Amino acid sequence: MSLFKGVIAKYRKYLPVSDETPIISLQEGSTPLIRARNIEKEFGFPFQLHVKYEGLNPTGSFKDRGMTVAISKAVEKKKAFVICASTGNTSASAAAYSARAGITALVVIPEGAIALGKLSQAMIHGARIVAIKGNFDDALKIVREICEKYPVELVNSINPFRIEGQKTAAFEIIDALGRAPDYHALPVGNAGNITAYWKGFKEYAAVRPVMLGFQAAKSAPIVDGHPIKNPETIATAIKIGNPASWEKALEARDESGGIIDKVTDDEILFAYRSLARLEGIFVEPASAAGIAGLIKYNKKSYFKDASKETIVTATLTGHGLKDPDRAIAESAQPPKVSAEINVVAEALGIK
Ligand SMILES: *Cc1c(COP(=O)(O)O)cnc(C)c1O
Repeated sequence: MSLFKGVIAKYRKYLPVSDETPIISLQEGSTPLIRARNIEKEFGFPFQLHVKYEGLNPTGSFKDRGMTVAISKAVEKKKAFVICASTGNTSASAAAYSARAGITALVVIPEGAIALGKLSQAMIHGARIVAIKGNFDDALKIVREICEKYPVELVNSINPFRIEGQKTAAFEIIDALGRAPDYHALPVGNAGNITAYWKGFKEYAAVRPVMLGFQAAKSAPIVDGHPIKNPETIATAIKIGNPASWEKALEARDESGGIIDKVTDDEILFAYRSLARLEGIFVEPASAAGIAGLIKYNKKSYFKDASKETIVTATLTGHGLKDPDRAIAESAQPPKVSAEINVVAEALGIK
């Protein structure tokens, strides 16, 4: 069996496709599940931590798993346009898969709130992009209304085909481990992914993980119990005040006996730097929320009964190159010196 053949080919019998469905794929999925021993050691984790590095999907985030199904179904339905509201990664993915399918992606984004890498992707793939004076929740409301008036297909995660495709990440984790993990941690924004993982774990294994979802502290409507009008966080991919899959996220939490809690931006950025410096894994800030949550909960002795037989997995949702400005802001700036060996050696700290 070829390792890289795209999630529809790989898990076809679990997905809503038929012989009539043209498969639009960029060979997404089959991302590595990496043991993070340095993080385990640094933070005294009593369990094994394995991270699912979804930044290695074709457009750099897990959104591709859902998009291959959503765009394939849109093409099957002969749609010429798909539309999404986006904090960035959905639009990057929709734009790329639409380009491949020969259809047009329409994108509505909150002005000034999209990381540079993501915006550049949507632009170069030829999406029609409009930036609104408003936030993600406003953008999603508008695209939902557009879908009622115009013959365009919505490809946000309220599209059930997105959830279907995204559940394949849970399948891959079980395939890699030979069983389901004991706990699974991930960031929660619009809550499509936690919904998808829980669906995937339920369909693929009899024994399932406890789900641990983490929102950013000032964008934590599910934790706070009410929509947040002006959500704030540096983790732009989870800067969402009124998640579309709110109820489903609560179901995942409650059916699995898990939690949805919040982590501060400082905790997120600390986990972000730790992944980069201790493991060589570069993610965008939102992706580190799950790790930030594990560090926080380990400190609270939540895992006191765990041992090195206990397997915890965490989704790293998107690649660090999506948001290069943040990486530079979080690092020491290189000194500028004259081109002389002594000066360079001294500046490098080896003299
Ligand atoms: C979309 C996204 C999220 C949030 O996922 P939801 O399904 O909206 O909860 C988190 N991280 C990254 C990098 C994303 O692109």
